[in-house]
Amino acid sequence: MENKKLKDYVTVITGASSGMGDAIARRFAEEGSRVVLSARRAERLETLAGELKGKGHEAFAVPADVTDFSQVQNLVKEAVDAFGRIDVMVNAAGFGYLKPFEENTVEEIDLQIDVNVKGVCYGSKAVLDVMKKQGAGNIINIGSIASVRHFADFAVYSGAKHAVLGFSKSLYEEVRKFGIRINVLCPAAVNTEFLDVAGYKDPPWKPEEMIQAEDIAELALTCVTLPKNIQLESMVIWPLAQET
Ligand code: NDP
Repeated sequence: MENKKLKDYVTVITGASSGMGDAIARRFAEEGSRVVLSARRAERLETLAGELKGKGHEAFAVPADVTDFSQVQNLVKEAVDAFGRIDVMVNAAGFGYLKPFEENTVEEIDLQIDVNVKGVCYGSKAVLDVMKKQGAGNIINIGSIASVRHFADFAVYSGAKHAVLGFSKSLYEEVRKFGIRINVLCPAAVNTEFLDVAGYKDPPWKPEEMIQAEDIAELALTCVTLPKNIQLESMVIWPLAQET
């Protein structure tokens, strides 16, 4: 008999149209979780949902922009309407612009803060009530090495990712009494579309040398499957090829 680690689980994932969110969706579905996929690009989400369903998994897409709380609320509502619970909320939507601070327009500053910081706050706010009623849940927030280090040309992004870590650790103090765990994964360079979106001209690492999205999915799975009396607060992940 197959022994799936996430049998009966429901996982909601923002940023599921690409990179780590996509990989977490695949890995969690493989372990038996029902998955609700979200991001702005509906077509990509539908393709992934179709692929997962084709493998016998339960999955569906709810497009949402994480900077709009009503859309995030709707995402959570659709997941609960369909499956009656949410065990894991993965807030993976995020991006940054690699450029000197002075070259950021006000709109670019706002967007980096809105997606990376407000997106994580909104995802957490929308799901908390559901998890409190269950008396259990994991919120996995994707921070960054920029949550704990500082980088030239990434000032706004780094500030935003520091906020993700600070927010998550503070919120955990409020919700641990409800059995809710909040994990922050803080990877260095991961081989995803993030680097293109950021505007890296010539990344100093080969794709195969970087952390792979699947590696992060494995760590997300670890966060969720740890004994219920302990929580993994945050984790910094490096590829061996990257100088620390
Ligand atoms: P990708 O670019 O592959 O994925 C980013 C995801 O975020 C996409 O699914 C995108 O979907 C989604 N997204 C962006 N803006 C919004 C929005 N406004 N509303 C909803 N979804 C949005 O990058 P990664 O997988 O690497 O990124 C995942 C997380 O990891 C991010 O938070 C990133 O900051 C962080 N990170 C990345 C690192 C790396 O080196 N790759 C290192 C450390 C942290 P869509 O465009 O369809 O909306």
